[in-house]
Amino acid sequence: MEPILHIGGVDVTRLTQALGTPLMVYDEGALRKRLAEFSACFQSPALSTRVVYAGKAFLCKAMARLVNEMGCSLDTVSGGELFCALEAGFPAEKIVFHGNNKTPAELAAAVDAGVGLVVLDSLPECQALTALAGEKRTAMRVLLRVNPGVEAHTHKYIVTAHLDSKFGIAAGRKEELYAVLDELNQSEFVTFAGFHAHIGSQIFDKAAFAAEIEQLAILAQEAEGKGYPVPVLDLGGGFAARYTDADAPIPIPEVCQTILDACLAQKKARNLSLSEVCIEPGRSIVGEAGTTLYTVGWQKETESKRYLFVDGGMADNIRPALYQAEYDCGAAEHMEAAKTETYTVAGKCCESGDILIEEAKLPPMKTGDLLAVYTTGAYCYSMSSNYNHLGRPAVVFAQDGKARLVLRREEPKDLLACETNEVLFDSFSSKKKNEQQEVVL
Ligand SMILES: *Cc1c(COP(=O)(O)O)cnc(C)c1O
Repeated sequence: MEPILHIGGVDVTRLTQALGTPLMVYDEGALRKRLAEFSACFQSPALSTRVVYAGKAFLCKAMARLVNEMGCSLDTVSGGELFCALEAGFPAEKIVFHGNNKTPAELAAAVDAGVGLVVLDSLPECQALTALAGEKRTAMRVLLRVNPGVEAHTHKYIVTAHLDSKFGIAAGRKEELYAVLDELNQSEFVTFAGFHAHIGSQIFDKAAFAAEIEQLAILAQEAEGKGYPVPVLDLGGGFAARYTDADAPIPIPEVCQTILDACLAQKKARNLSLSEVCIEPGRSIVGEAGTTLYTVGWQKETESKRYLFVDGGMADNIRPALYQAEYDCGAAEHMEAAKTETYTVAGKCCESGDILIEEAKLPPMKTGDLLAVYTTGAYCYSMSSNYNHLGRPAVVFAQDGKARLVLRREEPKDLLACETNEVLFDSFSSKKKNEQQEVVL
């Protein structure tokens, strides 16, 4: 018998036999370890610190509970994520609420829930929140998202004056920036706590974070000079995960040390009142802990490719199609077999771009075999769709030889759960007595 892939001490073939495929399996111990490592490393005797898990990478009630158990805060970006967190019993005061276009209903939900921090994105949003908090006579603390002009996406970062991002207020737009701080100063209920920035994702370069901190410190120094204290800096996320052997993420202790050192150096050099620093890791917590299992279907050869079709694809992992993300994979039931073949792993969706891995090195695969695609823990389930009326996969947390189902598979009937034939507005009902009722909008 050849070695079989185990996750969290659980034989994955037992899980797929019980639950079918595609199946997502998280190593729960790895999730806990990552959260614990960030918490342990992001500590400073001179500053209070906060690790805020970015829920958009992967969120369900079980994940929210785990984040809370590990003592971390949670970042949510919509009314839906906020609802999930609150339903899971996540303490509202440890929730950070983001978004470049929070709707009035979302702002009201954040105020009603009493979230710990709202990250404001613009002046009109600031005005809406101060009005709302005034009406509801509820105290709120806010950060202001700024765009410090540091952009980091992969191995390089740039400091640019070209600040057209849809997120935050560009650091150079002083009038708008100080209009927000003024508005907050005058608000009886809303308190300005500090600045927030998020400079990109899958960042491999430590220097990018130091550059971000320097730009924020310059802003904070200027704001404090004008009489607006800036006790908090929230530096966002973006820490890389290892998808393939080509990726070498900065180790967590190193990235935490770099950030804390840069914050303390800036505090000292600029005489800042800075007392709390937050980071918001998403991908680096859940990415490597997740694996997707597919069943191999048919194969097909063309002039230059050998296709290996699987029973999922862009509906459960849009990242390769969306931004050429690369993944590694293995034959889950033949973990030690020589990888002698090259396949193009393609999904079952009706799009030519539905290719998960362009050149996958695998042992010879046959119909019915299990394919494991690694590092699918971040931005796969959370970005999944029902394209082609495919149901979302089931999700399992496995740890110490035990597995628990945290999200059941979406069945075709679940996809019909929102179907109705409700009459909304029937202005012609008198004329059309004998005809079928019709919706007129
Ligand atoms: C997406 C996002 C994060 C998390 O980013 P990762 O790359 O997953 O670490 C954190 N903060 C904000 C504001 C974000 O938009």
